[in-house]
Amino acid sequence: MSETPVSVRPVNGRVWRRALVTGGAGFVGSHLCGRLLDSGTDVVCLDNLATGSRANVADLERRRGFRFVRADATDPAALRGLPGRFDLVLHFACPASPADYLRLPLETLDVGSTGTRNALERAHADGARFLLASTSEVYGDPLEHPQRETYWGNVNPVGPRSVYDESKRFAEALVTAHRHVHGTDAAIVRIFNTYGPRMRTGDGRAVPNFIAQALDGMPLTVAGDGGQTRSLCYVDDTVAGVLALAASGESGPMNIGGDDEITMLELARRVVDLTGSSSRIRFVERPVDDPGRRKPDTTLARERLGWRPVVSWTEGLERTIGWFAHAVAA
Ligand code: NAD
Ligand code: UDP
Repeated sequence: MSETPVSVRPVNGRVWRRALVTGGAGFVGSHLCGRLLDSGTDVVCLDNLATGSRANVADLERRRGFRFVRADATDPAALRGLPGRFDLVLHFACPASPADYLRLPLETLDVGSTGTRNALERAHADGARFLLASTSEVYGDPLEHPQRETYWGNVNPVGPRSVYDESKRFAEALVTAHRHVHGTDAAIVRIFNTYGPRMRTGDGRAVPNFIAQALDGMPLTVAGDGGQTRSLCYVDDTVAGVLALAASGESGPMNIGGDDEITMLELARRVVDLTGSSSRIRFVERPVDDPGRRKPDTTLARERLGWRPVVSWTEGLERTIGWFAHAVAA
């Protein structure tokens, strides 16, 4: 008889015993924690709540096998002091919305450097698989399109976004050095724009901004002429890709992101349609160094992981709007 309870959904045939998720009370991190619990893995979520919230994990805290620890990933004692042994460490702690990392520039640099170092040390000490949440922002304002993992990027090292971009680039270098020096089983995932339930209304990113504005009947603030593009990926697809990489023997870097490249003006219009809102579009100033085009080449993830996004952006937006409408009404 199988020892696996019927309700457990392993990830690509893999069940970890115990995972540490830094940044687990954030948007993507909380979905990761939920999916890991579904797969029969106990989860410790370490978060300082800089940009996340306890509400994001309130349902998880009622489930067996989940523990929330309020601590800072930049504190080595906090990571070292967690009792027990982990076989998976997912390092997701980091402000991710431009508004957040511009508000928290030094903290963003610290969590990408010291925080990544601490998480790597803990993974190495436990013999755990380690995964760094890196980002399409390592490509900066890309001169290659779509972006392949081999592209080195076009980043302004002293521009306002550099605190995020360079922190993640440094984190990638740390992971690579740790693998070489200590043999740490570490991988890098480069996540492209992800959206879905539990994004914060005020976090400043296009999807939550547009949805909240449309639901409130306020003008949708489209930056520049709205011709800049992004490739949106629904959070369930991103989580599936992240965990497929974790379950594989691949080290990356590997792109995980959506297929459909859309302009921000198209996105705003689609949100207005889907919400049935009477909101108008208001064109506002474009942020400095805002990337003009972004689309992942996901060949590697398709070939090595058998992963591809399955939720269309219309379907994903409908689900996200439904969640926001409920959250705003509650
Ligand atoms: P988020 O802001 O919702 O989540 C980040 C979480 O990290 C928050 O809960 C925050 O409180 C926590 N945190 C920040 N600094 C910390 C610290 N020093 N110690 C402990 N916890 C800390 O952002 P998100 O969109 O969920 O992004 C999560 C991760 O995924 C980030 O590393 C981000 O760079 C990466 N990523 C996200 C996207 C995306 O589109 N959402 C794209 C690329 C990469
Ligand atoms: N953007 C916009 N209106 C907003 C917020 C963002 O037009 O209210 C634009 C932003 O300038 C960028 C794109 O939408 O060109 C995606 O921004 P987001 O902050 O969501 O993600 P990122 O810049 O990190 O890709």
